[in-house]
Amino acid sequence: MSVDQSRATVFFDRDGTLNPDTSYIKTSGEFVLFPDAVTAVKRCNDAGILVLVVTNQSGLARGYFSQADLDGIHRCLREQLRDGGAWIDDIFICPHHPDDGCQCRKPNPGMIEQAMARYPIDLAKSYVVGDKSIDVELAAKTHVKGLLVTTGPTSAEELRMIRAHHLPVAYVAECLQDAVDWILADVECVG
Ligand SMILES: [Mg+2]
Ligand SMILES: [Zn+2]
Repeated sequence: MSVDQSRATVFFDRDGTLNPDTSYIKTSGEFVLFPDAVTAVKRCNDAGILVLVVTNQSGLARGYFSQADLDGIHRCLREQLRDGGAWIDDIFICPHHPDDGCQCRKPNPGMIEQAMARYPIDLAKSYVVGDKSIDVELAAKTHVKGLLVTTGPTSAEELRMIRAHHLPVAYVAECLQDAVDWILADVECVG
């Protein structure tokens, strides 16, 4: 770790990235990580990278599930990681409806701003990994590298959007392990 303590950071999207996006996961019983997620996150942990989750959860505003349900889902997420020796350092949630005009719903940068207020983050060594164009757009807005994983339900459409809007995408990964391979090599290069 560098002397100034500011850390390389990976901001992982949740649905479609760490776990299959089954459209509004409402209970912890529905939550299961992708098979390669534990190892992918553990490799980031072992490399000293700060691991954060940034997730839009408008299902809260829509009344599809409660904060207690979401807390239960995230306990389940943490337990599944812990069983494999991996962990998430923190989870940032946008609970708002798209019509609320909040600053935290991706692609708005609010969740990354919240994270930067709480942790010493080295933006030059930071990455957003997600399955949607909004994740790549978030990365562009916050001047970090954006990686698309094509494990979401709409990956072809997301790639079209990224190209149509000329969003800078650092790497298109076929799975989480592929994304983490790229990140660990890049962190080395950036030094
Ligand atoms: Mg997603
Ligand atoms: Zn929000």
